[in-house]
Amino acid sequence: MRESLVKTRPECLSRCIAASAFLIVPLALSAQTTPEASQTSLILGFSPVNAVAEHRLETTFQSLPSPEKAREWHRIFTAEPHPAASEQNNKLAEFMAREWRTQGWEDVTLRRYDVLHSSPRSVSLEMTAPVHFQASLREDPYDVDPDTKNPAIAGSYFGYSASGDVTAELVYAHSGNPEDYELLRKNGISVKGKIVIVRYSNPYSYRGFKALTAEREGAAALLIYSDPAEDGYTRGKVFPDGPWGPESHMQRGAITYDYIVPGDPTTPGWASVPGAKHIAPEDARSLPKIPALPLSWRDAKPLLENMTGPEVPAPWRGALPITYRFTGAVQVHLHVDMDTSMKPYTVVEARLRGSELPDEWVLVGNHRDAWAYGGVDPVSGTASMMELTRSLGELKQRGVRPRRTIVVCSWDGEEYALTGSTEWGEQFAEDLKKKLVAYLNVDESVAGAATTAGPEGLSFEPAAVASLAPMLVEASKDVRAPSGKSLYEAWRATLMRDKKLPAPPSDPALVQTRIGSGSDHTVFLNHLGRPVMLLGFTGEYGVYHSGYDDHFWMSHIGDPTFEYHTALTRIWGVTTLRLSNSDILPFDFAANAAALQEFLGELESADKIDPRRLPLKQLHQRIADFERAGKELREATLQDLASGNTSPERIQHLNAQLLQVESNWLDPAGIPGRPWFQHILYAARYTYAHLEFPGLTEAVEAANWKLAAEQANLLDTALVKNTALLRSAQSAWQKKP
Ligand SMILES: [Zn+2]
Repeated sequence: MRESLVKTRPECLSRCIAASAFLIVPLALSAQTTPEASQTSLILGFSPVNAVAEHRLETTFQSLPSPEKAREWHRIFTAEPHPAASEQNNKLAEFMAREWRTQGWEDVTLRRYDVLHSSPRSVSLEMTAPVHFQASLREDPYDVDPDTKNPAIAGSYFGYSASGDVTAELVYAHSGNPEDYELLRKNGISVKGKIVIVRYSNPYSYRGFKALTAEREGAAALLIYSDPAEDGYTRGKVFPDGPWGPESHMQRGAITYDYIVPGDPTTPGWASVPGAKHIAPEDARSLPKIPALPLSWRDAKPLLENMTGPEVPAPWRGALPITYRFTGAVQVHLHVDMDTSMKPYTVVEARLRGSELPDEWVLVGNHRDAWAYGGVDPVSGTASMMELTRSLGELKQRGVRPRRTIVVCSWDGEEYALTGSTEWGEQFAEDLKKKLVAYLNVDESVAGAATTAGPEGLSFEPAAVASLAPMLVEASKDVRAPSGKSLYEAWRATLMRDKKLPAPPSDPALVQTRIGSGSDHTVFLNHLGRPVMLLGFTGEYGVYHSGYDDHFWMSHIGDPTFEYHTALTRIWGVTTLRLSNSDILPFDFAANAAALQEFLGELESADKIDPRRLPLKQLHQRIADFERAGKELREATLQDLASGNTSPERIQHLNAQLLQVESNWLDPAGIPGRPWFQHILYAARYTYAHLEFPGLTEAVEAANWKLAAEQANLLDTALVKNTALLRSAQSAWQKKP
């Protein structure tokens, strides 16, 4: 899953015209924009000599990924449905381990976690009045795609739904957000003890937030259906003729409250290694207490059109040819029986041991489990990853090791609660806090249809902590997009198209530096305070988490040439290699500070802050100090690096300090009410949307000024600490041994 990142990208206009934060260091400049032209230019964090070698290595690396091989991987991993804890998913773990060994990877290990899992025993839905209707809860087969006929494709269910048998009146609650229930109340409609039906995304919010909201409102059960206005015929041609969802497609998923604490619900904050202590499921904060089910619009339509109550206002209407009503006359019988019991999950792990700095790790990963075949989610990412590991393994077989250790992981149970990555992160927390340079996550590498994307192609839509944004932009100049342009040019062109910008965006406006949840980066960023980057292409895609998200969709509609898969492998590999091989770690804290100023400005302009009760002037000043320290350190160190005025000891000492900065954004107490989330710059809302300065922002939104002042104070302290750290790094650097 990766939905939140796509749906919550903010407008970037303010940064499009802001002064470029990272065009200051001359040697980091790469004016050339074609892959060939930059062969002579320098690379952020590399000495001139090492940059030449790195460019040579990257050229070799980039010649290795093959679209045909990506297609083969894609077919292998989409051969059968493979949800977490299924036999097929476990077989794929074994297969992957064998392949990685063959490719030359080292220390290939299967990590087992015993976790609370959830799968359906029996599920049914019928309308009992005013007419009888039995919902199919299945997706139709299509002759053109034999995979859709496989009985192993599950029917309708939600991971971690409560079990229950409920007969009650049906109420339509639009998107199921709190303001929707407010409107129902204004219309004199209570949902207490009723079954609520809501639409998937208008506006987008995570289905687990809809479940919690329905539970809090006292509803007896929840149905979530896919209205064609969001992902069906209103948007364009439907499967198998186009990328959008046909009448019977349904969006499975988990409804876990993992925005409170992710991972195995019964081991909040520690790893589910065999023999670990587990809390009782009744005590788990992340487990829903309401039964729920996803529906296709075909199963939802008879329920909605038989209502007789008052009509809904225009914004509540979907695209079905019916009159949308709040309630009236429709009785529904819902039966959900879930098997919620312990099952083993498997994380596959391997590494290429670093030749010089084996105790500094660059981690890459993708999840393996899928709701059905997972053509986009996650197998597009898996196919890109298998080409990445094959190509990096090939370099090692030719005698070229990375300077730092590269670790690769195939996560399990991401779809349930980000479970595999969370448990693995919790198990190795102490090592990761010390050694992890960055985590580069790819969930869906190609979540869009190249066949309907137009001449500019699919959108490259990465996200990264702001300190890594400049190196990502720089790397994109050396990778070619399927359109034939450099990835950098393609990125600018599609962002201009998508956001209807009057001119190409500036470099700092390219990278999304606001990071929500919804994928495996969460534990590394929010719990362990390590820098993360998320890569992927996006476009038209309406079969998310359905049985039609399969090999046919990808090979006929999504990426028929598989060139987007390999373009993604290339940018993933180039960024991985640069982080692994650089002399000075390519973090840019001036860019980090520029993003923080922007976040703080947004909080102020949201008009919720009373400046007499919460003065933020000093915080702006602290960020400005941090920005200046970051800029001066970067200039001093990179200039010395360019002129050869360095020593390995100086660089090693500097890197140790650079690695510390992200850790200093952690507050061990966590953000108020959610202690697992320790990062004070980044968290996710309950909807999965990105949330900056989470403790401060939530306190401001609750008009809790005492708490807001405390949270502002924490930020102040962390900024002072990091500014002092950069200053001390600079004076140590300038002493020159
Ligand atoms: Zn996914």
